[in-house]
Amino acid sequence: MAGLARETLRMILSTLRKYANDNLTPEYLLELDAGGEFPHEVLKELYDPTRLGLPLLFIPKEYGGLGGSTYDAYRVLEVLASIDLGIATSALATFLGIDPIKVGGTAEQKAYWMPRLASGAFLMAYAATEPQAGSDLTALSTKAEPVYENNRLTGYKLNGRKQWVSNGGVADFYTILANAPGGISWFIVERGAEGFDSGKPEDKHGIRAGNTTALVLEDVYVPADQLVGREEGQGLIQAQVVFGYTRLLVAALGLGAGWEALRRAIAYSKERVQAGGPLSQKPAYTHKLIVPNAVALEAGRAYIEWVAGRLDGGESGLGTEGAIAKYVTTEAGNQAAEDAIQAHGGYGYAREYMVEKIKRDVRITTIYEGTSEIMERTIARARWRSHLRTHGAYYTDWAARLEQVHQVEPDNGADVAALTMRALAVFLERCWLDRLTRNQHILFRLGELIAYAETAAVFSEHVLRKPTHANALDMATRQAIARIYARQVALKVAGDGLRWMMGLDQVGSGLIDSLSLPAIYEAQEGLVEDMSFVARSLVSV
Ligand SMILES: Cc1cc2nc3c(=O)[nH]c(=O)nc-3n(C[C@H](O)[C@H](O)[C@H](O)COP(=O)(O)OP(=O)(O)OC[C@H]3O[C@@H](n4cnc5c(N)ncnc54)[C@H](O)[C@@H]3O)c2cc1C
Repeated sequence: MAGLARETLRMILSTLRKYANDNLTPEYLLELDAGGEFPHEVLKELYDPTRLGLPLLFIPKEYGGLGGSTYDAYRVLEVLASIDLGIATSALATFLGIDPIKVGGTAEQKAYWMPRLASGAFLMAYAATEPQAGSDLTALSTKAEPVYENNRLTGYKLNGRKQWVSNGGVADFYTILANAPGGISWFIVERGAEGFDSGKPEDKHGIRAGNTTALVLEDVYVPADQLVGREEGQGLIQAQVVFGYTRLLVAALGLGAGWEALRRAIAYSKERVQAGGPLSQKPAYTHKLIVPNAVALEAGRAYIEWVAGRLDGGESGLGTEGAIAKYVTTEAGNQAAEDAIQAHGGYGYAREYMVEKIKRDVRITTIYEGTSEIMERTIARARWRSHLRTHGAYYTDWAARLEQVHQVEPDNGADVAALTMRALAVFLERCWLDRLTRNQHILFRLGELIAYAETAAVFSEHVLRKPTHANALDMATRQAIARIYARQVALKVAGDGLRWMMGLDQVGSGLIDSLSLPAIYEAQEGLVEDMSFVARSLVSV
């Protein structure tokens, strides 16, 4: 996918930032947060095709859109999330709502819906979750019953209830997942359809400017040509196809919100003087509350950009990679916001400083579009299959590639990432020999270790790629960050992996000797110097 010209993307991002500076002041955003108020006018302006026209980004050019790439979508959502995650979620819901049509619609459906969505400032919603079906969508109970006239299928009657729908009370159009006789399918429902209603807005912990409601469907008639793809039973397949993309977009939200919290913590640390000097000069402060978060977020960014590049290069699916991106980046965003409160001391606990709001907002990113635990399972299952299919070579081959990268680029942590990959391969093999993944906890923990190991590997492989953002860190800082991350992940994978294996009584199986533990500990040499370098770099801008 070609996507936007870099200059066009830059213009969109700067227009967005200017719009936020002029209109979305902290006072206004805090007011929306306190009142749990959805800013209709703001969304209208952001969507208006004659102004910012955000949805156009996600609509292909042939239908009147801008045909933005995955990379473009990530950059725009990162900026939106740094402004307000409730507003960003409303935009995301529109993109997700359009997606089933874009991916699964027939040529006629696309030709009808896409130009329509491109020409108006329409809000969309995407309704999959139900009160009893969240992580397990196969348990859906909303029914789509065919309606026949003169033996001809004319439409469907939808009955059921949806839960936690972003834009649920404000959308103009909804894509709704329901069980038809041929299986789970997407249907397009227009606001105001008879029998269709939304509940009252949920009183939420965060993203309070976002509108989230239940939906009630009682004999809602949907014409047959509003069954997406005009074929029943394609719903979960259509959703699966885009998981790589949609999870990447949520990762971008975690990145944007997490960096905004971190940016505020860095700025505060330069102003706040304690014990005779600014906090930004105190390593016990920077190395605990600032540096680790920049490291985790930038590792997430490197992974997001790698996946975006692959999707834009024409690869399809990448659901596992999308899950890894979402998992590591949204967990990093959460931690960054949590630490930003601590970094502000008592002021962090007050609403005025915004980090308290960001912390409540960013929490949702580890829950919606698949919880962190479901990501762990997705990742573990997929890579478990890769390990078995390759007779254990999946990670040892990757380790060998990293060792080669290290020969050419010795400063990016690739040698340490290789140690991690070899440790991971040992654990997976041990799990296979003794059937350890039958224990669900072990399977999920493997998912966690795999996610961090792959992120460290990708980061060290791609750190020299020229950064494309205006506010990107310089190369030496990025390299130091990649080394810190590689060291941290090596210890985590070896330490946690060993913990779970020993916890399952894998004692005396030669595990400890096969892990290169001395090398992993020796690789920590230079860690504090790198952290000090990164701290200086972060507070100097
Ligand atoms: C603010 C908000 C906005 C949302 N927007 C939308 C939207 O626009 N459209 C939409 O369709 N949905 C939306 N959702 C729903 C969201 O995607 C779900 O809440 C999420 O997928 C989790 O489902 P659940 O709430 O039913 O939790 P559950 O699936 O019941 O999970 C509860 C806990 O159990 C864990 N768990 C679940 N299954 C397993 C398992 N097999 N093994 C071990 N642990 C497990 C989970 O990780 C979680 O920790 C939204 C939710 C919120 C809160």
